[in-house]
Amino acid sequence: MSVLPDLFIALLGAVIGSFLNVCICRIPEGRSLVAPGSACPGCGHPIRPYDNIPVLSYLILKGRCRDCGRRISPRYIAVELITAVIALFLFQQYGFSLQFLSAFVFAAALVVVTFIDLEHGIIPDVITLPGIPLFMIPAVLVMGVSFLDAFLGAAVGGGVFYLIAEGYDFFTGREGMGGGDIKLLAMLGAFLGWQSLVFVLLVSSLLGSIVGIGVMVAKHEGMRYAIPFGPFLAVSALAYIFWGYDFSRVMNLYWG
Ligand SMILES: [Zn+2]
Repeated sequence: MSVLPDLFIALLGAVIGSFLNVCICRIPEGRSLVAPGSACPGCGHPIRPYDNIPVLSYLILKGRCRDCGRRISPRYIAVELITAVIALFLFQQYGFSLQFLSAFVFAAALVVVTFIDLEHGIIPDVITLPGIPLFMIPAVLVMGVSFLDAFLGAAVGGGVFYLIAEGYDFFTGREGMGGGDIKLLAMLGAFLGWQSLVFVLLVSSLLGSIVGIGVMVAKHEGMRYAIPFGPFLAVSALAYIFWGYDFSRVMNLYWG
């Protein structure tokens, strides 16, 4: 057994993660993803190619700009490592295949959504809106989701949860799920099929409650402290790729 393919996939994941960092920085600002090249936001010095090596450069530079010493956000190395780990896990599951490629592109979109939501509290429409029809294509052609299941996933994710959110706002006078969360749910449903939404909502609510209570205890604050929900949806969707298909199969047996 050789570890070379795994090493290659992890490296590839880290390199893609490096690009996802660029997306996370620039998409909220509406800037181009390709030009100009990366520069230090502190001193404006362009990043040298040898300082742009995923994971390693951050460690060698001890998380600081080589020119002005400004701290580089640990998010950079975090995203590179997370993307590498996701790539490895998906490779374990799918091997070299179109399924691997499809699931990895989907996961990459989720990484970008997660970190933009954490930093800015928004889920950009430029990812989720085109994502809804575009992710239906590999869902049906590659992942084995039926067209009806993918279509219902997008419709249920978008429509039904829009109604739930509206109802929640109406009865409580507080905003529950944001519009960005609903569009993200539609994208998740489009790729994973409507069956996934039960799993995703269960797991994300559970995770959200645990983390929410943790934050409340740590900050000694009440419910006023809002945490973005997008990251929980994204993590749950990834969990569904690894364990959820079994969950859906059990559910189908139960209902069927
Ligand atoms: Zn600098």
